[in-house]
Amino acid sequence: MPIPFNKPYITGKEIDYISDVFRAGKLSGDGEFTKRCHQLITEKYGFRKVLLTTSCTDALEACAILLNIQPGDEVIAPSYTFVSTVNAFVLRGAKIIFADSEASTGNIDATKIETLITPRTKAIVPVHYAGVACDMDAIMRIAEKHNLFVVEDAAQAIDSYYKGKPLGSIGHLAAFSFHDTKNIISGEGGMLVVNDPQFEKRAEIIREKGTNRSAFFRGEVDKYGWVDAGSSFLPSEITAAVLLAQLEKTDVIQNKRKQLWELYYERLKPLAEKGFLQLPQIPDYATNNAHMFYIVLNDLDTRTKLITHLKSAEIHAVFHYISLHKSAYYEKKHDGRELPVADKLTNTLLRLPMYYELTTEQTELVCKSISGFFAK
Ligand SMILES: *Cc1c(COP(=O)(O)O)cnc(C)c1O
Repeated sequence: MPIPFNKPYITGKEIDYISDVFRAGKLSGDGEFTKRCHQLITEKYGFRKVLLTTSCTDALEACAILLNIQPGDEVIAPSYTFVSTVNAFVLRGAKIIFADSEASTGNIDATKIETLITPRTKAIVPVHYAGVACDMDAIMRIAEKHNLFVVEDAAQAIDSYYKGKPLGSIGHLAAFSFHDTKNIISGEGGMLVVNDPQFEKRAEIIREKGTNRSAFFRGEVDKYGWVDAGSSFLPSEITAAVLLAQLEKTDVIQNKRKQLWELYYERLKPLAEKGFLQLPQIPDYATNNAHMFYIVLNDLDTRTKLITHLKSAEIHAVFHYISLHKSAYYEKKHDGRELPVADKLTNTLLRLPMYYELTTEQTELVCKSISGFFAK
């Protein structure tokens, strides 16, 4: 039986909730299911304000609008990340100043940020890679000192913590993803978290095509109209219905993923001790939400051969980002600085199968296959 890299987990309750949506006859956004998702998430994580969005990409675009990013503004972000992290700001005309990553976590190296700040810098966008927290105290300190905004790209970081605080609650704004490849899913979907109260009202307006429709439905204004520039970032109730079913199972999903993660770690530790590969490190200030299990090989050639070796055993393991400062779109816009850690992760990081329905037997099989590769 082939072992895929990812398989979206369906709890079974999604279809019941979707039926409820059809029965109620209201399919568009901000109905009962969206409210219930907002409530559940707010109660569980204590976020100040959350708004479901159509994707994390859209939540990030809402952030760029909220921060009034203008052409010529600079935004500091890691190069080793998904395009959406920075594309949202590029759409508003920002110049992206790429920072290098830490070899131990793949997160933005907080010690490299301050030298990149100029009078044009507006924001820092840390990404919690693999759901493991960036050094948020250091990042927030720098932001405060230079009067910058922090947007957490928490796409992978649901149910993960930094010094006891949920990720997504620390920056001025944060964006989550519920895409099929994440821990908690709704097909496509995301969430904007507003921690800084100055953005609370406008976040609702931007999400609703620039109108004050949300305030109108709460009875706060007696007619609604066009009050700002915005877009349509709210998901349909069908998406919210799927998400609610998933959110209700968060603990079950997380426990299973963590179990598999620990098993990978234990089984691959001997190979790490022999110097064949590096295992992910979880800093003392961070928890592990088992979003991803990756290994870092010693060089590109070893990774390529290992992928082929696993494929011959029908195990699908995949590499991850290609540094954005080397991308076709941004290479010429980049200021030319070398980012050696981002490049190293581009060439040597390998993600192993990780999903709820993966069995311990399959996990053992993946580890055996990797051990077999290095025994040769
Ligand atoms: C998945 C992901 C996104 C994009 O999420 P969508 O919901 O698909 O838009 C953005 N940033 C990071 C770091 C991601 O992993």
